[in-house]
Amino acid sequence: MSNKDKKIPYEKNQELTVEITEVGSLGEGVAKLDGYALFVKDSVRGDICQVKIMKANKSFAYAKLLKVITPSPYRVKPRCEVARRCGGCKIMAADYKEQLRFKTEKVYNNLTRIGGASDFEYESIIGMEEPYNYRNKAQFPIGYNDKGRLVSGFYAGRTHVIVENNKCFLGVPENEKILTTIKNFMNEYSIKPYDEINHTGVIRHVMIRKAFHTGEIMVCIVINGDEIMHSDILVGRLKEIPGIVSISISINKDKTNVIMGRKIVNLFGRNYIRDYIKDVEFNISPKSFFQVNPIQTEKLYEKALEYAGLTGNEVVWDLYCGIGTISLFLARNAKKVYGVEIISDAIEDAKRNAKLNNIDNTEFFVGKSEEVFVNYYKTNKDHLPDVVVVDPPRKGCERILLEKIASVNPKKIVYVSCDSATLGRDVAILEENGYKLLKACPVDMFPHTEHVETVVLMSKVK
Ligand code: SAH
Repeated sequence: MSNKDKKIPYEKNQELTVEITEVGSLGEGVAKLDGYALFVKDSVRGDICQVKIMKANKSFAYAKLLKVITPSPYRVKPRCEVARRCGGCKIMAADYKEQLRFKTEKVYNNLTRIGGASDFEYESIIGMEEPYNYRNKAQFPIGYNDKGRLVSGFYAGRTHVIVENNKCFLGVPENEKILTTIKNFMNEYSIKPYDEINHTGVIRHVMIRKAFHTGEIMVCIVINGDEIMHSDILVGRLKEIPGIVSISISINKDKTNVIMGRKIVNLFGRNYIRDYIKDVEFNISPKSFFQVNPIQTEKLYEKALEYAGLTGNEVVWDLYCGIGTISLFLARNAKKVYGVEIISDAIEDAKRNAKLNNIDNTEFFVGKSEEVFVNYYKTNKDHLPDVVVVDPPRKGCERILLEKIASVNPKKIVYVSCDSATLGRDVAILEENGYKLLKACPVDMFPHTEHVETVVLMSKVK
């Protein structure tokens, strides 16, 4: 029967009892009824539950979880009470082993079904020993709740309603004390939070960052204005909290969803914190990009280094290099590393961090990888790459870049990906162009969320 002749088998608001047998790519449970898929947010594989149809199409429907009738053996009580409303930790109700199984399967399916890959070594996912308190950065919106009380927390799902949460289990324990100190100060001195509808009030967000290796903490308060009245009192209280070495304000007077403003004014201490990835030191300013799970970042980069198999004589390109974290990590084992990144501030950081570590065999370019790399090898026949590392955002690489990389014959391509669906697509393009997937390893950088990072090694077919 063609899809056109199919009838929609369920109606909106219809209630059903179903068994959840699979997990969808966004972490939602899936029930299959004669091949018809029912996506049920907040359910866990193995649950038998009562659900209500919210929106039905010809071959699938979205349903709401009403009641868990028989809980799955993998179901646990989420540590966070607001997990379901907040929506950040979509799979917190599944035990950690089940979370890792889900991610392992998701990446494998994307590599084989979308990527068409076969006969490769699929390594066990690298999970966390303690999958909590792993985020080194958090940005909390501040506002009034529906009862007019000053709260901080997270935006619920895709809305701008603040779910109160001062103690996110993914963040560092210090967040709670810092937020409480700021809110108490605001209440005492009648400092208003920002109201995004009327574009009034002052305090918009509080950004907190902690360096895991040095223990240094940065607080940056984003304001709609040029100053916070009585900020000396606030600073006096905040600097008593152990670890805080940097306090600043970020000025953002625009009507925008972008959190940080362009201008940063330092109120106390340094305008950066120091952290390490293994033995490479980084200075991180309020606006610098830095991987948010430092423990797993080290494991991810070590895997990338292992796959690159450097001996010290190689020319390496690190495309989408951010502040040069991978470049600097690889540089000590390579002859030369070229980094390319679209954001010029990040390249400034990369150059500064190279100097800070006395690394002098790196060169960084601002621009699009697909332009800088392609143009470089239009004219340059020397310095052909031995290894190319790419770490693109979720949308993956442009086809033209992948074709160009393949055409200059690096022995190895190491692809670090935060979206295994686009990774699958790009693996297929590289396989069309003479490369073969040899190894893949998922790394769990974001426990309790549906996200998973993957490193793969591709090599030229002889
Ligand atoms: N490798 C870095 C950053 C990876 S995040 C790290 O591990 O820390 C992906 C980076 O790609 C971001 O810094 C983003 O600004 C950059 N980017 C996005 N599109 C790009 C493009 N077309 N060319 C180069 N860089 C790009």
